[in-house]
Amino acid sequence: MTLTEKLLARASGKASVQAGDNIWVKADVLMTHDVCGPGTIGVFKREFGKTAKVWDKQRVVIIPDHYIFTADSMSNRNVDILRDFVREQGLPYFYDVIDDPNGSWKFDASKGNTKRQYGSQYAGVCHAALPAKGHTRPGEVLFGTDSHTCMAGAFNEFATGIGNTDAGFVMGTGKLLIKVPETMRFRLEGKLQPGVMAKDIILHVIGEIGFDGATYRAMQFDGPGIATLSMDDRMTIANMAIEAGGKNAIFEFDARTAEYVDARTRLNGTKSTYEPVEVDRDQKFVYETVIDLSKLEPTVACHPDPGQRKTAKQMNGMKLDRAYVGSCTGGKTSDFVEFARVLRGHKVSIDTFGVPATPEIVHDLQTTRWGNETIWQILENAGVRMTENAGCSACLGGPVDTFGRMNQGGLKCISATNRNFPGRMGSKESEVYLASPATVAASAITGRVTDPREYLTN
Ligand code: SF4
Repeated sequence: MTLTEKLLARASGKASVQAGDNIWVKADVLMTHDVCGPGTIGVFKREFGKTAKVWDKQRVVIIPDHYIFTADSMSNRNVDILRDFVREQGLPYFYDVIDDPNGSWKFDASKGNTKRQYGSQYAGVCHAALPAKGHTRPGEVLFGTDSHTCMAGAFNEFATGIGNTDAGFVMGTGKLLIKVPETMRFRLEGKLQPGVMAKDIILHVIGEIGFDGATYRAMQFDGPGIATLSMDDRMTIANMAIEAGGKNAIFEFDARTAEYVDARTRLNGTKSTYEPVEVDRDQKFVYETVIDLSKLEPTVACHPDPGQRKTAKQMNGMKLDRAYVGSCTGGKTSDFVEFARVLRGHKVSIDTFGVPATPEIVHDLQTTRWGNETIWQILENAGVRMTENAGCSACLGGPVDTFGRMNQGGLKCISATNRNFPGRMGSKESEVYLASPATVAASAITGRVTDPREYLTN
C-alpha cells in the first residue's frame, strides 16, 4: 500500500484498502475557522440538536484567521459566534483574537492596520498554527474546513479539506465516509541550488501535471531529496497539492519530522504520542516521476491559474505593480528570511506588502538580528509595508479594507501565496503571479519579474 492507503486502512480499522474503496475513517482532529466555523456549527446543531455535544472536545481545534483585521461587522461577528460555541461546549483549543472569553471582537480601524490588535491566544493562519500549536502528528487523520488543510501532509498525516456539511457530521460523530484516492508519486532526488526554494518545487510539479492533474489523488513525496528539505519546505509543497486538485499530500516520516512534532507537542501540552506510516515495497501508483532538485530554477505560475508555469527568466522582465509576501504557504519565518536575504541593502521599487502567517513569526522577525538591525527593520528599511496583524489578509482578497488587497483593476502582483485565479486577491481585473519569496524580493527591487539569483551576494 502507498503511505495514504496504509494510513487510511489504519484509520478505518481494516488490514488493507485500495484506491476506489469507500471507507469510514476516524478523525483525529477537526479544524475549523471563522469563515466556515459558523456554517459548520449551524449544520452540527441542525442535524444533532441544539443541545448536542461535539464527539470529542480534545479533537476539535478552532482557529479564527481569515477575515479578522477588518471593520466589516459581519466578519467580526463570525469570531463571536465561534467564541460562544467554544464556551457552550467547553472546548480547550480555541485560538481567540481577544483574551476575554466573554468579550466580543471589534477591529479598531482608527489604529491603522499595521500595529498589533490581537490578544495573547491568537495563533494566526490555521495551517501554520496547527503544527506550531502541536496539533499535527504523523499517522493521524486531520479534517479541516479549508482547502489548504493538505499542508499538514508534510507531517506524514492524512490531511484534507472538507465542506461545512461534512465537518458538521464529523463534529457530531468523529468519522467520515471517504473514497480512497489513487496515489501519484513524486520521488525527489538531489538538492536545491542557492536561490531556488521549495515553492519552486511545487510550482514545477503543478506545471508538469496541470492545475487539475492530481484531481482527487494523493500526492506522495518521497525519496532521498526529502532529507534536504526543512519542515517549512515540506509544508510549502504539501500546501499546494490542492492547487493541482489533490485530495491530500503526504511526506515520508523522518527524524526531522519527529524533532518538530515532539518539540511542538511538548511546548503546547498537546497529545505527544503518534505512529507514523512507513513506505511499503509493494506500492501501486497511478503516476510516477523523479524530480532532480538540483535542476530546478526559480519558477513563476502566471495568471490565471497555478499550472501556468514559466521560469522567472522566461518572463522577460514582465512589468509589475505590486509584490506580496505572506499566507500559510509563503509567510513562514524561513520565507521572510529568504525574502530579507535578497532585499537587504536594496529598496523596493513597487508597493510591497509583508504579512507574517502567525504572531510567533512576527516575534521571530522582530527579535532576530542581522548586525544592528532586526529582520523586521531590514524589511521596513527596504520599503516593505509590514503588518503585525498576522493572518490570511489579502491572500484571498477579503473585505475591501483588508491590508494589501488589490482593490484596483489592472494591477499585476507577484506573490508568495498559493492561488491565482481571477479575483483571488481582490479585483477580478487584477493579475496574480505566484513565486517564491526570493523571486518576489528580487522582483520587488526591479519592479519586473526577476530571477533572484541575480541578488545572491546577500
Ligand atoms: S493564508 Fe490564504 S491559503 Fe492560507 S488559509 Fe488563509 S486564505 Fe487560505
